[in-house]
Amino acid sequence: MEKKMGFVETVGNLVNLLLSNEKTKIINVIVACRNHRLRAFLFPRWTRLPKNYIDHFHDKDKTIKPGSSEMAGLVITVDKDVFEFSDDKNVREALNYVSSSEEDLKFVDEYLKDKKIKDKSENFNLPSGRQGLKFPFLAEKVDTLWKKGIKNGFVREECLKGIETKSYEDGLIEVQYNGRRKSIVSFSLVEKRKKGEEECPYCSYEKGREDYPWNGYIISANPYPYYDHHIVIVNEKHTYQFIDKNEIRIMVEFVLNAPEYMVVYNGPPGTTILSHMHFQAGIHSLPVERAKTRVLSGDGNLTVSKLVGFPTRVFVVEKIIV
Ligand SMILES: [Zn+2]
Repeated sequence: MEKKMGFVETVGNLVNLLLSNEKTKIINVIVACRNHRLRAFLFPRWTRLPKNYIDHFHDKDKTIKPGSSEMAGLVITVDKDVFEFSDDKNVREALNYVSSSEEDLKFVDEYLKDKKIKDKSENFNLPSGRQGLKFPFLAEKVDTLWKKGIKNGFVREECLKGIETKSYEDGLIEVQYNGRRKSIVSFSLVEKRKKGEEECPYCSYEKGREDYPWNGYIISANPYPYYDHHIVIVNEKHTYQFIDKNEIRIMVEFVLNAPEYMVVYNGPPGTTILSHMHFQAGIHSLPVERAKTRVLSGDGNLTVSKLVGFPTRVFVVEKIIV
């Protein structure tokens, strides 16, 4: 008898498979739910920094540092010359380089060929009117703490102003220049955090930060946002960055309760804060959401696809939610 898997289990199995292989073990995950389509985008990678930027600038700070948003087509630059260097050709080359190759992903294709993807009903904690009544006001609570953060200066709203954007390939590649973020993404600061020389910013008190406890996590505003309502969702415990089926469920429950948002997980070492498990979320539609897909396996309601013609290799798990 075939075992039905459902969304969380399908995403979780793919994540475990990718984490087990040297060539795919750095992963970014984005979960969003639009028009009744719950989707998880999985971005397998083998390395962190693109060779063409390093070769060109010879400076570890003068490069794009692909995280979820870059892998999803939104490239954020903090130096004017890096912004100018970032055209469709260089961005495509950079993202293609850090992404696992089709050759590296053959074992996943083999896995999917033998696997029958079958949907099953899943119990998520949903807002009122659907199953459960656990977090009926999540979106309002997040909106309140975001607005308070802007009002009291905790959220540096200037990060969202004066941003220059270039767009290529019908919007599948967007490049942003956001010079105001420069100080927080510097190489030396990230190195310090990795070595534990800097105090955990999530555990230490930050003036003006509002915390909202939710589902075993604490939600607060991102002080240096790069999209609207940019928040961090931080584990109650100071525990290393990881992802498993339970954390995928948390991402799903967040977007089902606050459907305007997308939630993002950056796997080690592709995140600036590794020592404390966290997600990011915000109200934004990333280019990857508009890319074309090719179905690999599925039963109509639950499918696994690959993106076609996109700069990075991406698996998409999709479930129709009614
Ligand atoms: Zn911490």
